[in-house]
Formats: sequence, C-alpha cells, structure tokens
Amino acid sequence: MHPHSISHGATKSEIEHRSDICAVGSWLHERGFAVATDGNISLCLGPDRVLASPTCMSKSMMTPDDLVVTDFQGNQLSGTRRPSSELGMHLLIYRLRPDVSAVCHAHPPIATGHAAAGIALDRPILCELVIGLGRIPLARFGTPGTPELAEALAPLIPDHDAILMANHGVVTYGEDLLTAFLRMETVEHCAHVSLVTEILGKQQLLSDSNVQKLFGARARYRNNSRPASSNLVDLPAQSDRGVDDRATHARRKLDTATEETLAKDRSRLRPAENPPRRSRRSTIPIR
Ligand SMILES: [Zn+2]
Repeated sequence: MHPHSISHGATKSEIEHRSDICAVGSWLHERGFAVATDGNISLCLGPDRVLASPTCMSKSMMTPDDLVVTDFQGNQLSGTRRPSSELGMHLLIYRLRPDVSAVCHAHPPIATGHAAAGIALDRPILCELVIGLGRIPLARFGTPGTPELAEALAPLIPDHDAILMANHGVVTYGEDLLTAFLRMETVEHCAHVSLVTEILGKQQLLSDSNVQKLFGARARYRNNSRPASSNLVDLPAQSDRGVDDRATHARRKLDTATEETLAKDRSRLRPAENPPRRSRRSTIPIR
C-alpha cells in the first residue's frame, strides 16, 4: 500500500509529500521505533504550511488523507483529524533551524533506553556517528506538549541534528524527510552498538586525531547554507555511571571539534551571515 522507498528532496508535490509521510510512518512502526500511536512526523509544504501526522493513530495505519495541515503557529488549516500535541516541538525546530524541512519523533527502544537512563550518546565510538551526527546530546526531561519541553530542547536544536529526550524518546530532523528518517535509524543503531560495548565491558574510543579527520569529512558533507547559531549552551551528559577520564576528555575533544566545524561554517557564510529567516518562522511562539 505504502511505497517501499522515497527519495531525497523537499521539492515535491503535496501528494508525494503525503505519500512520503505515510511511508516513513510505516518504516518507524515496522522497526519498532513507534509502537501503538507513538511518534509523529512533519514536513514543510511551503513558506506557510506544515504537513503533519495526526494524533492518536498508529503510524503504520495512516493514509494520505489522514494527515493534517497547519500553519507555523500550529493553527489547523485542513484535515479531519487533529494534529499531534507534540507538533509544537516540530514548529520550534522549524523556527530555530530554517535549513530544516522535515522532523521525525519516535521512541526507538535502545536509544530511548539510553534517554531513560540519562545517558547521552556523545562518545566517539563509531565513525558514522561522528561523521553523520557529531554527537547526540540528551535534553533534560520536559512534559510533552508543554513549554517545559521546548525550553529543554531549544538550546540543543541549533547545533545538533538528533537529540535524545530524557525519559521520552528521540527527535531527528533534516533538509528532507528521508534525511530525518535515516538519522533516526542512525541514532538507534549507534545506541545499539553503545549498548553492546557496555555488555562487553569495554569501549575503545576513536583517537583525537581520528575524530579530527572525521570532523573534516563531516564538514565537507554539511550543508554550507546552515545558519550560524548564537546559542551554544549545551547540557552536560547526564549519567549516573562512572565516567572515566578518557571518555570525558574525548567528549571535550568532540565538543571542541564541533565548535571548530561550526566556526568554519560561519566563516564560509560570511558576508551572507545571518541570512534572512523566512518570516513564517520568526513569529512562532514556543508552545
Ligand atoms: Zn513522544
């Protein structure tokens, strides 16, 4: 019923976007990332409309007609069902990241287990983690659908593409829906590998020099048009495990490499720094 593949790209017809959201909903469900009616998906339809999955519906059972359209203030424009109460989180991400056109939120069990244990995925244990996502921070708990959640996520959104949400789940986003979904898969894969290293009792972290090389590769893959962030406030990894000195050092190096990569991105953006943000994203209240 749903297509088995979707393509990259945010410039599609509304019919194609609706089909893509249903496909991603099906994938999230079949991978166990979104059970029952968990999870939500959205994408930007244009400068003033958001297409989103509805509330209280299995992501595997959605049809294109079940989706809802809202503006960037969250006002429903069309659709017979209601949007998710977590739509405000999506709108916050669109406001803070004008380069983002799609958001996936789900509860993949191993990554969510880390979030429930207060463990960020911020150690350089895998090259694809460093290249693809840099690090995956942990946002403090915020009740879904409230400003508390927005306040927990907001400092992390500008400089990360995937965030663990304490005692809740994961949110990923990107320039198109396929990118957002693939990042969700990467988060869960990295969480799985991290768990295996914990079971084996050993984590062999990438060396500082290899992290630097990987960040060089990451910088080449990053979207050069990504706007600079003025807010680099980050949350410390919240872990009740003993954190050894090497891991702490590696995390600091990863943070430093992230800062350096962002600084390079910013310098490339000049003189077009502070690109004009689409007005639709400048007035969205944090809900
Ligand atoms: Zn959720």
